[in-house]
This record gives sequence, structure tokens and C-alpha cells, in this order.
Amino acid sequence: MPGSISRRLYWLGPVFITCSHLGCALLLVTGLGLGAVLWGVALYLVRMLAITAVLHRLIAHRSYQASRVVWWVGSLLAASSGQMGPSWWKAHHQQHHRHVDGQGDPHTPLLARQGWRGFWHSQLGWLLTPDFQPERLPADVESDPLLRLIDRGHLLPPLALAWLSWQLGGLSWLAAFCLSTTVLFHAVASVNSVAHLSGSQPFATGDGSRNNPWVALLTLGEGWHNLHHAFAGSVRQGISVRDGRIVLLPDPTYRFIQVLAWLGLARQLRIPSERALLARAAATA
Ligand SMILES: [Zn+2]
Ligand SMILES: [Zn+2]
Repeated sequence: MPGSISRRLYWLGPVFITCSHLGCALLLVTGLGLGAVLWGVALYLVRMLAITAVLHRLIAHRSYQASRVVWWVGSLLAASSGQMGPSWWKAHHQQHHRHVDGQGDPHTPLLARQGWRGFWHSQLGWLLTPDFQPERLPADVESDPLLRLIDRGHLLPPLALAWLSWQLGGLSWLAAFCLSTTVLFHAVASVNSVAHLSGSQPFATGDGSRNNPWVALLTLGEGWHNLHHAFAGSVRQGISVRDGRIVLLPDPTYRFIQVLAWLGLARQLRIPSERALLARAAATA
């Protein structure tokens, strides 16, 4: 259980995300020029990759090995999205995988709250419940002083990025930052909500996880969520099985990790064997 100071610092996250939603109203005054649009899109892509490739596939699941620099820079960029730091993030994500769609899953759309209520709980509402505070923090992240600092100081990177946006392009770039941050938040949250409600289930997982191409598009490959729950340690999530054959699906995050490996920054990329994939798919029949 995190200490009381950490718990108070964590509550600043939902406050920031609420402010980024409200900040989108700036668009009504400033509009968006081409520069602001490009800035918002660049911020979306860079921060999405930091969340998917580093927070999720590296820190939470260790689906590949990487130098500490990748852990630190990725965590800092991911924190600039206003979606908290590496300890908080990994703690909740492990809780989700341990209890998926059952008691103890902090953001399942399927338990107790059905239909639209379940969707909104999963998309946003759970951040405003006691479940928002993690049960316990992961020891591997907590043992790194810099990662701890990024985790507890998670509010500073998004505030710095908001300030930078304003300095570079005035209020319209600040509005683009708010829009990019808000859309990024909902895209990542759609993995928890939409990808547990709608899509295909080629693999036997016994939970609600689904492969959803729209979520995969928005999240650079994280929407292949049924594969992810079947093989959580796989660095590549864009894999399916159709008619007894392996099908490779678009997975930009995996391509990005391959680039990291080519640059010598990542190694030991873990991918399940064809036999294991086919066996898991056959179990659904
Ligand atoms: Zn899930
Ligand atoms: Zn995961």
C-alpha cells in the first residue's frame, strides 16, 4: 500500500485529466492552425508509443529487455500524457491481469455495472473511486530512484509540456496540447473498456478481452487485446489465428520496438511459438 504522501500526489492525476478536458474549450476561442494540428498529432504519437512500448510492453510485462535509459525516457514521456507514473501504472495493470474481469479488476466494464454504466466506469469513472489507489507498488520500479521520482512527480512532465506548447505557439498550441492529451487518454482507456466489450476472441482466455481493430488503430497495436490476455508476455500483439493459420496484424508499437532493437536499445524480444498460438486458438473451438 503506497504511503499517504504518495496517495495524495496520485490524486493530482485525475485533477489534471479533468483540467485537460476543460482546456479543450480553448479551441472555441483559438481554433487550430496547421502548426497546432501537427503539434497535437506529434504529441499524441510520441506519448502513445511511450505508454504502449515502454510502460506497457516493457515495464509492466517485460516482453523485451532494454537499457535503463529507455525505462527513464519512456516513463518521463508517458507521464507527460497525464496518465500517471510507472509504479502507479504497473501496479494497476498487474491488478487488471491478476483479476481480469473479476472481483479485484479495478476497471472491468463487465462486473456489477452492466451496459453503459459499465462502459463509463471502465473508461473514466474508476479513476474517481477508491480503486484508483493501487493495492501495492511494484518492487522493481520502486527500487529505481529515478523511476520513483517520475512516479511521485507525475504532474510535472504534463505541466512542463503544457507550458512548452504555450511558449512555442501561444494559446492555440496550448489548446492542441489539451485536445491531444484528452484524446490520448480516451484512446488508452478504450483498451480497458471497448476491447473488453466488442471484437473477436480467437484465443481461449476465459475473460472478456477482445481483438478490436479500431482500438488497435487508435493505440498503435494495443487493441489486439485478446492476444494480449492469452500471451501477456508477447512483445508482438498483432497476431491472430484464422482457419487454423497464423495471421499477422498491424502492430506499429511492435515495429517501433524493432527499431529500438536495431538501434541497440532493446533485446530479447519475446514472441510465442506458432505451436503455442495454434494450441490456444484451438482451445476456443
Ligand atoms: Zn485487459
Ligand atoms: Zn497488459
